Amino acid sequence: MEVVFVEPERDWEEETKLIHAGEYRDEGTGSIVTPIYVSVIYRYPEGNPYGYKYARNSSPTIEALEKKMGAVENAEDAVSFSSGMAGISSTMFTLLSPNEKLVTTKDIYGTSYEFFTKVLTKFGIKVDEKAIGEKVIERMDKNTKVVFVETISNPLLIVPPIDEIAKVAKEVGALLLVDNTFATPINFLPLKVDAYAVIHSASKYLAGHNDALGGIVASNDKKFTSSLRNTRRMFGGIPDAQQAYFIIRGLKTLHVRVKYQNEVALEIAKFLEDHPKVERVYYPCLPSHPSYETAKRLLKGCGGVISFEVKGNGFDAIKIMKKVKVIQRTASLGGVESIITHPATMTHHTVPPEVRKELGIKDNLLRLSVGLENVEDLINDLDQALSTL
Ligand code: PLP
Repeated sequence: MEVVFVEPERDWEEETKLIHAGEYRDEGTGSIVTPIYVSVIYRYPEGNPYGYKYARNSSPTIEALEKKMGAVENAEDAVSFSSGMAGISSTMFTLLSPNEKLVTTKDIYGTSYEFFTKVLTKFGIKVDEKAIGEKVIERMDKNTKVVFVETISNPLLIVPPIDEIAKVAKEVGALLLVDNTFATPINFLPLKVDAYAVIHSASKYLAGHNDALGGIVASNDKKFTSSLRNTRRMFGGIPDAQQAYFIIRGLKTLHVRVKYQNEVALEIAKFLEDHPKVERVYYPCLPSHPSYETAKRLLKGCGGVISFEVKGNGFDAIKIMKKVKVIQRTASLGGVESIITHPATMTHHTVPPEVRKELGIKDNLLRLSVGLENVEDLINDLDQALSTL
């Protein structure tokens, strides 16, 4: 029985790759959709043409996901993980040795920050996390081994000039890693501006339905992806087949979801900017955002996350969060349900108040992740909640 993974044609555009690339099409049954292979063990040394042995190494559903993500990120290879953090931690342990230096920024995802500053440093890795946004360029020098930035920061949505950072990284001989979770490959392709690798929490837009965790790391350096698979085999951070299937399934609608979320978020951002109970709106596709020009240059759209300060204090922000009805009160982002978060007491509560202040995360700030609901319903929901202030 011949089984093939679909090889994307050279001229396929993103949407076609999302649907067909990497799919495991079983010629014996004629199945169109990649099956969920639950087998943990595979017959070997003879007996399977793909070299599967044990599901902690790889298996067909995992490989289908990786082939699809490699195609979508325009990368030679992609490696999947059980969560974004498994991908980030495995990447760092693959690339960095004691006394080598990682340069990053203060405004990255909190758990990444915690992992870099509390765990990597325990292994003698030097971590420079002094910069915010584009200031990372000033921190890079010839002793820098790895640079880690996010395409769109959280929660103030700063877009660092990744093309310029990539140039400087090349000059000093550093490897630039870009966490592209907030932008998605629909809005930005880091490898196209010469990043060394792109990382995703697939738990957000890629899977897209708040029902699967996952992580992806893609790169053109196959020596690196091969070492990364080895790290994964040892750390054990591979997704299971069910999880991988959910991500594959989510990816097939990624372009439709993200384009809708780009449009609706921009409309809601404009609505909020005009609202009398709103102090300030942060959305990089609005001219009022400090990253507007960079976003215009680099991104096809600004994604589904908007942050805004309400007129009032932290208690007022929490009140709004409690008053919304369609929008759900929790953390995370990128799914079909719209979600509202109060960074100071939720996603960023472990960040000391003085650091929150330095980052510009005020107590009256709310973060909204726009889902796929009707835009008028979302605007009405926000309006009725804001009108209680
Ligand atoms: N990177 C970013 C930008 C995130 O927002 C998150 C999670 O919120 C992660 C990485 C970690 O991903 P995961 O939760 O899948 O481990």
